[in-house]
Amino acid sequence: MGAHSRKCDWCGSGTPVVRDMEPLDSDYQYWCEECARALIIVGDPIETYRELDGEPIYGRLLDEYCTLKRFYSFATA
Ligand SMILES: [Zn+2]
Repeated sequence: MGAHSRKCDWCGSGTPVVRDMEPLDSDYQYWCEECARALIIVGDPIETYRELDGEPIYGRLLDEYCTLKRFYSFATA
């Protein structure tokens, strides 16, 4: 049990780095870095998430790829 035995819910092979804490579909909670990045790029980033690796991997992806992050900040400020 635990994050180590889990695979990415989307591609089924990647190691999850981030968990969607409010998934629209409970079958898709764990995302590997590549799938998480793809989500950001298509403009549908995970909004409520938990890093699984003890490192802000997803946070860094957001910083790198997500201009919307700033937009969200403005929208909620
Ligand atoms: Zn994946």
